[in-house]
Amino acid sequence: MTLKIGVIGTGAIGREHIRRITNNLSGGRITAVTDVNQEAAKAVVEQFGLDAVVYPDDRTLIASEQVDAILVTSWGPAHQASVMAGIEAAKYVFCEKPLATTAEGCRSIVDAEIKFGRRLVQVGFMRRYDNGYIQLKEAIDSNYIGEPLMIRCAHRNPSVDEGYTTDMAITDTLIHEIDVLHWLINDDYSSVQVTYPKKTRHASSHLRDPQLVTLETAKGIVISAEIFVNCKYGYDIQCEVIGEEGIVKLPEVASITYRKEAKLGVHLLMDWKQRFLDAYDRELQDFIDSIRKHGQPQGPTSWDGYIAAVTADACVKAQESGHRETIVFGEKPELYRDYEVSFHRV
Ligand code: NAP
Repeated sequence: MTLKIGVIGTGAIGREHIRRITNNLSGGRITAVTDVNQEAAKAVVEQFGLDAVVYPDDRTLIASEQVDAILVTSWGPAHQASVMAGIEAAKYVFCEKPLATTAEGCRSIVDAEIKFGRRLVQVGFMRRYDNGYIQLKEAIDSNYIGEPLMIRCAHRNPSVDEGYTTDMAITDTLIHEIDVLHWLINDDYSSVQVTYPKKTRHASSHLRDPQLVTLETAKGIVISAEIFVNCKYGYDIQCEVIGEEGIVKLPEVASITYRKEAKLGVHLLMDWKQRFLDAYDRELQDFIDSIRKHGQPQGPTSWDGYIAAVTADACVKAQESGHRETIVFGEKPELYRDYEVSFHRV
């Protein structure tokens, strides 16, 4: 069966996902779209030549018999209501981050899914599908470097808009590290502290940049995460896991080396959209395949969305207090315990 997919929010990433499902992936078809801007939704149908109905809002789209699964790609504050309506209608849900803008909102989605009795929701934490992170995970899970002791990572952007604020370094930027790192080391965060090195002159007056986030886990692993969003030189994601027997590090992005004007070099990416292109393809293909094969998604769960929200809240609190803040999740519900991402190595 082909999975009939309705898209809620036809902005930048909504259009990207429509393009990849229509042109690159198999097993899914876009049958419905909606957006607060109806003209934008109609334009997308035209642009991709879709055989899809434009609905006036998320509720009518979700109620349609032509929709088995929804992609929630609207702006963050609208996610929770669409996801809840999707669960109530027993539709599969792929939701871009954030699952909800508050931890309570994420928890209410977890509770609704538990009440429903089966996992319906996958959150768009695509780094778990990146080949480099998958190799790190395999090295850690196979005990290749022994027990992990420390992680050093960095999330650097060349520049950000004037509207980017200090807390967005956590909620928009670090959020991807927050998700991928606890998955990588099979551990829970227990506390966090944020410190501010000397500020770059390239940051706007209201923005603290760079920032250093130090997370500790239940097993005692210390994670040092640098966020530097006006680094100028490129979009650069670094991750190094230091274990008792060795070290593993995220590979650099494959790129030709050049010899020119007395220099030997490698070009770096400037645009974040290019960095995880394959991972975006694989997360959506896994969403479609898992539903078709197993009747439920196997990617990052609502519980992962909740963990990310609780951790982000503690990080923002630590930004403001300057102190070490504790992170408490409560017990992982039964519904999420057997969860496993199906890896697709390339
Ligand atoms: P965007 O270009 O602003 O697109 C959002 C779209 O949703 C816009 O067309 C907006 O319409 C529409 N919208 C707003 N409220 C709506 C509602 N209540 N119902 C239906 N549509 C609504 O933003 P984006 O960059 O695509 O981001 C969308 C989401 O994806 C965000 O939550 C973002 O954090 C996430 N995202 C994730 C990644 C990732 O790496 N996983 C990357 C990019 C974005 P108007 O323009 O008329 O307001």
